[in-house]
Amino acid sequence: MLKLLKNAKVFSPRYLGKKDILVVGDKIGLIDDEISVNITALNVEVYDFSNRIIVPGFIDAHVHITGGGGEGGYSTRTPEIYLGELIKAGITTVVGCLGTDGITRSLENLYAKAKALDEEGITAYIYTGSYAVPPLTFTGDITKDIVIIDKVIGVGEIAISDHRSTQPSIEELKKIVSRARLGGLISGKAGVVNFHVGSGENGIDYLLEIIRKTEIPVTHLYPTHMNRNKSLIDQGIEFAKYGGFFDLTTSSSKEEGIDKTISYLGYCFENKVLDKVTLTSDGQGSLPVFNQKGDFVGLKIGEVSSLFETVKKAVERGLLPFEEALKTVTINPSKVLKLNSKGEIGINKDADIVILNEDLSIDSVIAKGNIVMFEKNLVRKGTFES
Ligand code: ZN
Repeated sequence: MLKLLKNAKVFSPRYLGKKDILVVGDKIGLIDDEISVNITALNVEVYDFSNRIIVPGFIDAHVHITGGGGEGGYSTRTPEIYLGELIKAGITTVVGCLGTDGITRSLENLYAKAKALDEEGITAYIYTGSYAVPPLTFTGDITKDIVIIDKVIGVGEIAISDHRSTQPSIEELKKIVSRARLGGLISGKAGVVNFHVGSGENGIDYLLEIIRKTEIPVTHLYPTHMNRNKSLIDQGIEFAKYGGFFDLTTSSSKEEGIDKTISYLGYCFENKVLDKVTLTSDGQGSLPVFNQKGDFVGLKIGEVSSLFETVKKAVERGLLPFEEALKTVTINPSKVLKLNSKGEIGINKDADIVILNEDLSIDSVIAKGNIVMFEKNLVRKGTFES
């Protein structure tokens, strides 16, 4: 019931100094310079985290938790994610989505997987819809899905500027965003639309036009894969200046493009829009692999571990201060998704905590007040995970 975490350097993501943290049930109860309690009387577990760093549990707002892909035939459908993979990556809150394939993958399956991850120990939400327009829904209506179904916090990933999209018109997109917004208003959820942005030359032109020409608040539009190229990043910066959040995908760039992604992070920081940038892994999505001649040679799976690896690399290369880089996987996603009890170390916030070593490797993880990884060993695994 009570856990006392002692002597760590705490980043809220803002640096708070060396602090003790008292976890009460699934919440953070107290943060102070030195907390002393009667250990035996109160049955407190005490952990000495000297020489370690405490940060909020990471939020990954775009993971194909039931698998994704399938763009190279049936055998290229990627598998479901295991709980342990998320925990090892420090992810304590995940948003699951379908993708290209809304035919052999169902929203009902996505919902059940999110419920399973919740039961197994972390926090999971989902988007209704898939790439397609009109969107796939549970109830026949986006608004109703958001209002009635506990796990649904928005819509996505709706594909734009992509050869795999249904080539939606701007009028169709306006309707989707306004229906999502209404669902958000009624339910108190984010009601956000996550847009998969392809490499088509129009980029996010439609989204910029929607915010310029309608009264829909920009906070309901949330484009992802914005690190494909420099012109998309520049559009993202413009979008952020209207107050919108945009997202960079870490798994697709894990090998060949991590330098590009972290340099874009630095570029966003220079342009003073880093508070509007999030990172997501696109985990379990399929990644086509090409040889040096550009021929397709196979597929890999997007890894959720790329999320914090990108943060770590950006800090190690001196492109961003740690506090700033940390925001992209904690407080920023909690804002765009309206997850007010997540993404921050603070009193009454959820006890979702990552403990790092000084080299920024992930040492231990606490989710909903429970130790799920300790000193690099998984304490909790998925039901069928070996
Ligand atoms: Zn996508």
